[in-house]
Amino acid sequence: MYDAILIEKSAGTSHARLTGIDDAQLPSGDVTIRVAYSTLNYKDALAITGKGPVVRNFPMVPGIDFAGVVEASENPDWKPGDRVVLNGWGVGETHWGGLAARARVKGEWLVPLQAPFTMRQAATIGTAGYTAMLCVLALERHGVYPGAGEVLVTGAAGGVGSVAVAILSKLGYSVVAATGRPAEAEYLTRLGAREVMDRAALVEPGKPLARERWAGAVDVVGGQVLANVCAAMRYRGVVAACGLAGGMALPITVAPFILRGITLAGIDSVMCPKAERLEAWGRLARDLDVHHFAELTEEVALADAIATADRLLAGQVRGRIVVPVAPE
Ligand code: NAP
Repeated sequence: MYDAILIEKSAGTSHARLTGIDDAQLPSGDVTIRVAYSTLNYKDALAITGKGPVVRNFPMVPGIDFAGVVEASENPDWKPGDRVVLNGWGVGETHWGGLAARARVKGEWLVPLQAPFTMRQAATIGTAGYTAMLCVLALERHGVYPGAGEVLVTGAAGGVGSVAVAILSKLGYSVVAATGRPAEAEYLTRLGAREVMDRAALVEPGKPLARERWAGAVDVVGGQVLANVCAAMRYRGVVAACGLAGGMALPITVAPFILRGITLAGIDSVMCPKAERLEAWGRLARDLDVHHFAELTEEVALADAIATADRLLAGQVRGRIVVPVAPE
C-alpha cells in the first residue's frame, strides 16, 4: 500500500482523507512513477477543500504537480530510473495526481528533470513557478524587456507571485510587488522587488483609464485588481493574466485596449504544449536563482497537506509548499 490523499464525494459533498492505495487502483497510463515530491498549489487547495469545481471525477488523488523517478515504463521515451517532472495536463483534476507515493500517467505528459534542479527544487517551482516563467515569456514575446519601465506583480507573496518577482528581478526588470501582507515586504525585497505596494491601492473600482504607470504586469488576482491594472498600463503595455485569486469577473472597459493599445495575454499552464514547457523549464534553470529556494519553500508532510489547504486559500502561505511524498 502507498500513502495517498484521496478525495471522495458523498451526498453532494467532497471530502479529502489520508489513506492507502495499491498498484491495482492506479489509473491507466504507460509510465509508473515513485513520487518523490509533490506540492500544494492554489488549485490543489480548491480541490482538497471542495471550494472550487476542480475535481472532475471521484475518487481523485489531488496534486497537479510532482517530481519523481520512473519505476516502470511501456513508453519508449522513458525507462526505470529516469527523473521526471509533471505539471498539469489535468492531473489532480481528471486523472490521479501527485499527492500519493505512486502515480501512473501518460509518458507524453512528463518532462525530464531540468539540471541543475533537484527533485525537491523542481517540485518547489511546480506549476506556480513554471506559470510565472510562462508569464515572463509572454511579456518578452510582446516586447516588454528590462528597461521598458516598471513591471507590477500582483499576489506577490504567493507561489506564482514570489517566483515571478524573483525571475523578473534577476532579469533586470524594475519590479513593483503588490501584496495584501505588508509583513512580507522584506521577503519581497529580498526576492528583488524594488518597491512593495499595498494591494488595497488596487481593489476599489477605478476609472476606465488611470495614470499610465506599468510597462508590464503579471497578474494572479483577476477581478477588480486586474481591471485596475489594465487601466494603469502605459501605452502598449502588456499584462500576463494567469489567476483568479481575487475573483473570476473582469469589470473592465475597452478603453485601455483601443486608446493605449495594451495587450492582455492569457496564460494557461495546464494544456501548454510540450515545446513551450521545455523552453520555460530551460529558462527557469537560467533565470531563477537557486539561493532563493530556502526562502521560497515551506515543507509540509503529506499528512498535513489537507489542513494546509485551508491556510493556502486564506492567503496565509508565503511562497511555495512542497510535500515530500516518497523521497529517496
Ligand atoms: P497562492 O500561493 O495562494 O497565491 C495567491 C496570492 O494571491 C496570495 O498569496 C495573495 O497574495 C493573493 N490573494 C489571495 N486572495 C486574494 C484576494 N481575495 N484578493 C487579492 N489578492 C489575493 O496561489 P498560486 O498557486 O500562486 O496561484 C495564484 C493564482 O494563479 C490562482 O488563482 C491560481 O489558480 C492561478 N494559477 C493559474 C495558472 C494557469 O495556468 N493559468 C497556473 C498556476 C496558478 P498577497 O498576500 O501577496 O496579496
